Amino acid sequence: MRTQVCIIGGGPSGLLLARMLHNDGIEAIVLERHDRDHVLARIRAGVLEWSSVETLDRAGVGRRMHAEGTPHGGTYLSAQNRGFRVDYEALTGKRVMVYGQTEVTHDLYDAMDAEGTPVLHGVAGVTIGNPDSDAPFVTFRHQGADRRIDCDWIAGCDGYHGVSRDTIPANVLKTFEKIYPFGWLGVLSETPPVSHELIYANHERGFALCSQRNAMLSRYYLQVALDDQIEAWSDTRFWDELRRRIPEQAADSLVTGPSIEKSIAPLRSFVAEPMRWGRLCLVGDAAHIVPPTGAKGLNLAVGDVHYLHDALTRAYAGDPAAIDRYSETALVRVWKAIRFSWWMTSVLHKFPGQTPFEQRIQEAEINLLEVSDTAKANLAENYVGLPF
Ligand SMILES: Cc1cc2nc3c(=O)[nH]c(=O)nc-3n(C[C@H](O)[C@H](O)[C@H](O)COP(=O)(O)OP(=O)(O)OC[C@H]3O[C@@H](n4cnc5c(N)ncnc54)[C@H](O)[C@@H]3O)c2cc1C
Repeated sequence: MRTQVCIIGGGPSGLLLARMLHNDGIEAIVLERHDRDHVLARIRAGVLEWSSVETLDRAGVGRRMHAEGTPHGGTYLSAQNRGFRVDYEALTGKRVMVYGQTEVTHDLYDAMDAEGTPVLHGVAGVTIGNPDSDAPFVTFRHQGADRRIDCDWIAGCDGYHGVSRDTIPANVLKTFEKIYPFGWLGVLSETPPVSHELIYANHERGFALCSQRNAMLSRYYLQVALDDQIEAWSDTRFWDELRRRIPEQAADSLVTGPSIEKSIAPLRSFVAEPMRWGRLCLVGDAAHIVPPTGAKGLNLAVGDVHYLHDALTRAYAGDPAAIDRYSETALVRVWKAIRFSWWMTSVLHKFPGQTPFEQRIQEAEINLLEVSDTAKANLAENYVGLPF
């Protein structure tokens, strides 16, 4: 087989890149390890920056998002059960859109089915050949047969555990990592959200987040120890603990119900540099991971797709040097989001062994956000998303 861009990974970054390339007449084939139902069942991100909304619009997949998503003009922050609002819209003129990653992926699959872009599901043993030459290729097994795709470019959109990043030689690849000493226990429930906007809560018992997917689907998180077992968290224990950590008014109006998904995720910050080696370009989680506190993971993936799509269309239009700038351009924005996510995580979580001094510093940071419009504006600018 032959194509112009071979995309490894059928998550949001791989599908969006394929869609945007297709719109510009550039051929792509997407290779995905899992079947479609598996990809669509993954409960992950839920908050889109406005630049992501606009990118999805430009890609022609924004119709359902605008009909069913919920724009949020602000968020609540609380410390020790007392909260205040950060008005993103007043501070930046921008909002964010609450619309689940699952739905974004769904919309992209629908668009690709309609246009006929091939997505090969259930591929195994993906290997990248000659990425540092002008004739790269990808080999894999699909439906019992060994296959090979020759291409001009390879987009490594295969997430943190994919094969693309490891293809870059160790003497070229630099990685930067911070592992946080706690995880997030997430619960999805078919209940109305406790607040019409998100609530981020700092509490001496640990961080909590009240998030949502739609009017009848709530997503709540609790900071838990890394060695906590999911079996130890009955629904009752989860709801009781959540009530303790959020503002009293919210706790009183919290509607609880059976969890329909419950999982514990570790938190880490990770960046791999460079994001391009020869004809292989890394995109999204394949190149970087953020703790979910700043709601940046999916948005960073969209940002990378924006830059790579731009570089590839320029390259096909006769400006091959555009690709040379991809890694550097994307990384400048990535590091700012890494910083913001680290800062949100540092300010809002209870760290093991946190000293009274560190506790007071956290309280001062949150108080500063409450009283200073400058501090609020800084948070708001980063949360709604820095420009591409
Ligand atoms: C449990 C969890 C919760 C999250 N919650 C949030 C959140 O609340 N907010 C937020 O902003 N972000 C969140 N994220 C991050 C967000 O989901 C990711 O940043 C986003 O999915 C990145 O998209 P991607 O397409 O780059 O990678 P992925 O979504 O990881 O997609 C990669 C795809 O590549 C496929 N693949 C992997 N290896 C291969 C291979 N060898 N061959 C072929 N295909 C392969 C995978 O099956 C997958 O479909 C969460 C992530 C996880 C894991």
